[in-house]
Amino acid sequence: MIFRKLTVGPSDTNSYIIGSNITKEIAIIDPGFESDKIIDEINKIGAIPIAILLTHGHFDHTMHLNNILKRFPDIELMYNKKEYNSLQTDLKEQDIEILVDLMDDKKDNIIQQNNKKQAIDLLIRKGLYVNIKADKWLNEGDIIKIGEFNFKVLETPGHSPGSLSFYSKDINEIRGHLIEGVIFTGDLLFKRNVGEFDIPGGDEQLLYQSIKNKLMNNPDITDRFKICAGHWGYTTIGEEKILNPFRKYFI
Ligand SMILES: [Zn+2]
Ligand SMILES: [Zn+2]
Repeated sequence: MIFRKLTVGPSDTNSYIIGSNITKEIAIIDPGFESDKIIDEINKIGAIPIAILLTHGHFDHTMHLNNILKRFPDIELMYNKKEYNSLQTDLKEQDIEILVDLMDDKKDNIIQQNNKKQAIDLLIRKGLYVNIKADKWLNEGDIIKIGEFNFKVLETPGHSPGSLSFYSKDINEIRGHLIEGVIFTGDLLFKRNVGEFDIPGGDEQLLYQSIKNKLMNNPDITDRFKICAGHWGYTTIGEEKILNPFRKYFI
């Protein structure tokens, strides 16, 4: 199989390239930033991108979407309709600079009360949701075929209203690690953490319900499923059941 993880942009978003070594068809998950790097990697592999899958619409997962669509016009854009907001406009260069500054502050934990408000205001006004309509709106239970791999769509709201997770039971090995499947969780569940919910569109109860009902208690998804999250490193379902500091809310 083809599997690449590229960490891009100011908030270290994980963009994934995943697909078939046989047909060379691939999907790109969350092309947040650094589209040049993503496109270079696709060309290096000689892959045929057939789909862009968005876990959700936040700008750090969608910022360079347009560049990828321009370079590969036949690609199909897929995500949940709740993440679309037609009132959005493209972020301008100076907006990005502000966001980058704010996110750097946030990383160092020195963000001021008024700065945080400013950041959230800016996200509401401009960058919170994608403003490009999907070619295919995804809903719970949809199956996406990439080469010989089937990916199933789960609606997993809580971090944002239309957050999705994608999983496949057809992938049994990544970089020598034997697994029983892979799940892409976006900003729902991370290694030793959960997604933010105290943001516009976020909902704490929904977030924990999504993790509990759609992931942890899903008979399809075993402890040996690899979790590929929207930020930070890899983990597994089994590890998070034991080691996640918020596990009491979703076990
Ligand atoms: Zn997010
Ligand atoms: Zn994110």
